[in-house]
Amino acid sequence: MDTFDTTITNLLKLSSTERTKSITDLKGKCPCPACPTYNVCAKNAKEILFCITGRSFHCISVDKGCICQTKCPLAKQVGLTHKDFCLKGSESAQRYVQ
Ligand code: SF4
Ligand code: SF4
Repeated sequence: MDTFDTTITNLLKLSSTERTKSITDLKGKCPCPACPTYNVCAKNAKEILFCITGRSFHCISVDKGCICQTKCPLAKQVGLTHKDFCLKGSESAQRYVQ
């Protein structure tokens, strides 16, 4: 089990309230709004933390680059091995669904 699997396993062990708090804390640290691919629609829809929550529902469809692996402190902390999460889906989806 690598860092990402451990992170998700630990999140799933939390109560619903604790998990919501942890996700909210992670959302506050996500630098997606500084990424050229992020847009006003995503901001207004409060879409963020795509690596955990999954791809953008209806806002982001044009790839203008991704700063996940270069500018995000969470990428290493959470153990992410993929990127472009807003376009391609969460780390779990890119690892296990495709
Ligand atoms: S890895 Fe990408 S989607 Fe996840 S928190 Fe960092 S910038 Fe946001
Ligand atoms: S997931 Fe990557 S490409 Fe999408 S907005 Fe966040 S940093 Fe940019």
